[in-house]
Amino acid sequence: MLKSPVELARTVFEDLVTTFFPGDCSACGGPLLGVGSTSLCDGCIDALRAQPGTLCARCGEALDIDGVRYERQFGAGPLLCSPCRMVPPVFERAVAWGVYEDQMRELTQMLKYERVRSVAEPLGRLLARVIEGLGDAAGGGVAMSRDVGVVVAVPLYRAKQRQRGFNQSVLLADVALRELRRRGSAWRLREAHGAMLRTRDTESQFGLTPGGRRRNLRGAFEVIDPAAVAGREVLLVDDIYTTGATARECARVLRQAGAERVWVATVSRAQREMVAAWDAGNAAETAVWDAG
Ligand SMILES: [Zn+2]
Ligand SMILES: [Zn+2]
Repeated sequence: MLKSPVELARTVFEDLVTTFFPGDCSACGGPLLGVGSTSLCDGCIDALRAQPGTLCARCGEALDIDGVRYERQFGAGPLLCSPCRMVPPVFERAVAWGVYEDQMRELTQMLKYERVRSVAEPLGRLLARVIEGLGDAAGGGVAMSRDVGVVVAVPLYRAKQRQRGFNQSVLLADVALRELRRRGSAWRLREAHGAMLRTRDTESQFGLTPGGRRRNLRGAFEVIDPAAVAGREVLLVDDIYTTGATARECARVLRQAGAERVWVATVSRAQREMVAAWDAGNAAETAVWDAG
């Protein structure tokens, strides 16, 4: 049926409005206020709260009250979770903005599986904040040098990247670096994403024991440009930190290639109890494991 002139005018007007003003929030469908580069409403961004509680100074695992009490009484130096106390990770510190749940989880999945690239904007800005935190030694941890580092995003296997069209960790890292520059921060980081390759596809990490996860990732990464990382501080960026198996393996390979120290920053993090619950048989969570 033909549209009346009034209807036609309305359609044209609506098209103009959606062109010049963004429509609905891509997460909750609510209205977007103001014109920005993000496709999320303020409410959804506010829901991405920083991880609360006392965290392990090395890996960022949440410490329970008993753990904190024990550490305060018997531990010396920074507060650590017991795995980090027993076997210190190859990387210096891993930091994450939030917990991988609720809105954070929804947005991360939107970025990776629904390929909504614009979600990388707000998430990348949160990543910038957490990177800034690496520069101070608060909590007894060590601080990353602000002016000599390179950033390497955890690479995807070629076929997977082709299928997805992008590497979400590269998008996040690039937004974060841009944000740090925009804020005029003291950080002088350069990207070196091409320095490392994922040389084989790793089967799903789902349901594997910690040892199984490590073996699954052995030999999966290779530094193809050692000159880019040798003698430097390397900041490894990923979307999620789940068991830390990916971070540890990448850090090992980077250190072997001569990296001075390796730091890890992710947008979100799963806590051990969540990982245990997923392993206990929620197959719907399988998608999480391709991140490691
Ligand atoms: Zn929203
Ligand atoms: Zn720890």
